Amino acid sequence: MNEENILIVRCGEVALKGQNKPYFERMLLERIRKRLLKAGFTKEVHSYRHEGLIYVKSPKDVDQEEVIKEVSKVFGVASVSPAVEAESNMDSIGEEAVKYMMNLIETRGIKTFKVLGKRADKSFPVTSPEIGRQIGAKILIGCKVLKVDVHNPDCLLHVDVRHDATYIYMDKIAGFGGLPLGTNGKGMVLLSGGIDSPVAAWMMAKRGMEIEAVHFHSYPYTSQRAQEKVEELASIVASYTGKFNMHVINLLPIQEQIVQNCPENETTILLRRFMMRIAEKVAEQTDCMMLITGEDLGQVASQTAEALVVTDAVVTKPVMRPLIAMDKVDIMDMAKEIGTYEKSIEPYEDCCTVFLPKHPTTKPKLDRIIESESKLDVEALVEAAVDSQEIIQIKA
Ligand code: ATP
Ligand code: MG
Repeated sequence: MNEENILIVRCGEVALKGQNKPYFERMLLERIRKRLLKAGFTKEVHSYRHEGLIYVKSPKDVDQEEVIKEVSKVFGVASVSPAVEAESNMDSIGEEAVKYMMNLIETRGIKTFKVLGKRADKSFPVTSPEIGRQIGAKILIGCKVLKVDVHNPDCLLHVDVRHDATYIYMDKIAGFGGLPLGTNGKGMVLLSGGIDSPVAAWMMAKRGMEIEAVHFHSYPYTSQRAQEKVEELASIVASYTGKFNMHVINLLPIQEQIVQNCPENETTILLRRFMMRIAEKVAEQTDCMMLITGEDLGQVASQTAEALVVTDAVVTKPVMRPLIAMDKVDIMDMAKEIGTYEKSIEPYEDCCTVFLPKHPTTKPKLDRIIESESKLDVEALVEAAVDSQEIIQIKA
């Protein structure tokens, strides 16, 4: 045994889904397989579901650290544990446990341990606490340098006795949790080059929602490089979600119309209403059920409660704002964790900052805004913008 690397994958919330459990587990397994293939691991790394867990096994010469890195990034994975396998009898378990501990003494300098036995297979003749005691005793005999410490051991050794085999492991490496991609529809994220919207996209994807993106620019006021930055940012998001399309649209014609015909302090809110209308049209074309934005209550003038109400009034699809109640520092921490932060803070211009009003209205009134919009041919402007979209495929 143990001529292979074994990784136990726990499905977390997926396991709570009652009758749908097999469906969620199948989806998760499919996502894990896809991700491993994409990372260049071929069929030599095989994975399967068994009794509520997923196992990923690979030959010894495969870099297990890389496998762990990839698998723990899949949404729906609660945690992973590199493990060794033993036959489900006390002699074989004891032998493998001693080998495992010897290795830990060498590689990590472990001095104390405690065994946590667990009998998932109730037909196994030894009870869970007894497994802990007996295997602990075998380890003490086999590894003379080790001592038991039940309160604060260097190594808490898990011994999970299952029907087909017993798994021995120490580490539980946390994944992101959530639900497998593709189990919760598809959403259109309004993706800027800022800190917030990539985090918002990531959070919805983590709940199983596939995403597609729309990005607005004001070329030539915004540069080609600014757009490339957004593509690079999108590609970091795609490293979690897999490839997706980004619909790129120039807002300049609309911005010029607003600036020429409407009150200066309303330009931001008017522009946001156009963004929403256009995003909704693109969402319709691409079967996205919802819109997703990185808005955060009160962060800037366009994100006051009043402004959000006025923005929402132009669309019928639900608008998901997963960051709405978060503090900026927490959003920034999250951006750092998922790896988008450094790219987001690269200083490039954004279409929202072109023609930025000096004193944007923070409490817009819907009837006043509708009145201002009556000076514009809204429908024609939206249609022209949608027709001008360029579609870029974002790769992971
Ligand atoms: P972000 O950090 O995501 O840019 P922000 O705090 O800068 O957000 P705003 O610029 O007011 O806030 O934008 C609010 C939301 O509107 C963004 O989170 C994003 O979803 C959307 N948005 C803003 N600018 C663009 C853009 N150029 N293209 C697509 N969506 C955008
Ligand atoms: Mg922004």
